[in-house]
Amino acid sequence: MSFLKVPPWRVVSSFRGSIIPIFETPPKPAYQTFRPFLNFPATYTQCSFSPSVPHSSTPSAIPDASYRWRPMCLYYTQGKCTKMDDPTHLERFNHDCSRDLSVHAAEVERMRPQNFDFFLVFDLEGKVEILEFPVLIIDAKTMSIVDFFHRFVRPSAMTEQRINEYIENKYGKFGVDRVWHDTALPFNEVIQQFEAWLTHHHLWEPKHGGSLNQAAFVTCGNWDVKTQIPRQCQVSKIKLPSYFMEWINLKDVYQNFYNPIKEARGMRTMMEQLKIPMLGSHHLGIDDAKNIAKVLLRMLADGAVIPITARRYPDSPGNVHFLFKNRIR
Ligand SMILES: [Zn+2]
Repeated sequence: MSFLKVPPWRVVSSFRGSIIPIFETPPKPAYQTFRPFLNFPATYTQCSFSPSVPHSSTPSAIPDASYRWRPMCLYYTQGKCTKMDDPTHLERFNHDCSRDLSVHAAEVERMRPQNFDFFLVFDLEGKVEILEFPVLIIDAKTMSIVDFFHRFVRPSAMTEQRINEYIENKYGKFGVDRVWHDTALPFNEVIQQFEAWLTHHHLWEPKHGGSLNQAAFVTCGNWDVKTQIPRQCQVSKIKLPSYFMEWINLKDVYQNFYNPIKEARGMRTMMEQLKIPMLGSHHLGIDDAKNIAKVLLRMLADGAVIPITARRYPDSPGNVHFLFKNRIR
């Protein structure tokens, strides 16, 4: 395919080499409680490292001793924060996704050439229907975060009462049930916005269809792309998008690269074995995506090459071929 790659100004490379101390995750964050402005445009909203976002466009390249972990503003991650001029709000919530994922220059130097230019770290939430759809673009040459896409998703085949119970159960404990209700969109709208975002980054084009352009989804396990996406497409009565035909299950690559004595059956085990502190709330999708990205970045720094591990074929999309022999079942 001939379309252009992500333009250089979108790639945050200035913060490679920064040293950011990691602090313990605080107890349950008192998440977003303000009412957002709800008249945002129906099209996708770009929400991270654009030069038009003054506070986050130029992360510091020097060690920042004042950095401390804070919960992400989940209105901001969805392009809907209306408090960008409120210092108290900015102090309380993180509005720069890259801050938790910076790497040292030495780590970038240790990387091996990859098969893709970009990794799309992807982690769905919602076992019955999808409730959250977070994706982080990681540059496979610089290990920097290029952008992220985050949407809460409203189930389409559930009663209001069931949705309310489901959300309270799932997100109430994190303090993000309010923001979920304020922002969640039906899956088919999320997919439309996601495709516009992919196209904006030259990672996919509707008119070409087919797979991603020099990019691959990275998930923790096969469930997200293998099972839950097709299931939700069926419930939402849409065709399985063509870019969900192949993916990288990071656990398969981890297993074959490190060959650990104890199999890493999940994100938590991989992080424990690599001694990476887990940040944020486990099973809040945007935080899990960042933690999976931390494992990916470590593996890249350790010299791993991260290839496709599973593929389905358009003529029989239910049939998945696993490309690694040694894998966790
Ligand atoms: Zn905000």
